Amino acid sequence: MSQPPPFRIGQGYDIHPLAAGRDCILGGVKIPSDVGPVGHSDADVLLHALADAILGAAGLRDIGHYFPNTDASLKGMNSALIVKKAVSEVAAAGWKIGNVDLVIIAERPKVGPHVAAIKNSIATLLGIEAGQVGVKATTNEGMDAIGEGKAIAVQAICLICRN
Ligand code: MG
Repeated sequence: MSQPPPFRIGQGYDIHPLAAGRDCILGGVKIPSDVGPVGHSDADVLLHALADAILGAAGLRDIGHYFPNTDASLKGMNSALIVKKAVSEVAAAGWKIGNVDLVIIAERPKVGPHVAAIKNSIATLLGIEAGQVGVKATTNEGMDAIGEGKAIAVQAICLICRN
């Protein structure tokens, strides 16, 4: 059997409902908004999708395995801890992050003005350069729950390389 390649790719996806009076934290950056994602943790939908992409690249279990949303001690937790756990798990398996790319799908809030800050926040969190982080924002063209401003979703992809 031939050797597997020294790199792997993983994808992640997450969606959270939006509600008034919730902080809107995306990629560790608090976005000014009158609505924010609802969730058991701080509901950072972007970091959740990112962590699943990182874990998936190494063939590991999803974030629900490491951080069950039935665990009362995790209520309101900072999702940066989830991403740090994902990075440490893949590092322990002999991998480092090559690059990540993220798509935020939301009608509201408008995240365009905050993309640079989100990129820098993720780069710092992952210990990589901002140039290794892609962050894009799009709308759902008014369709479905996202288009009606009731939800926010994120798609993530991550390349990992052998250390
Ligand atoms: Mg989530």
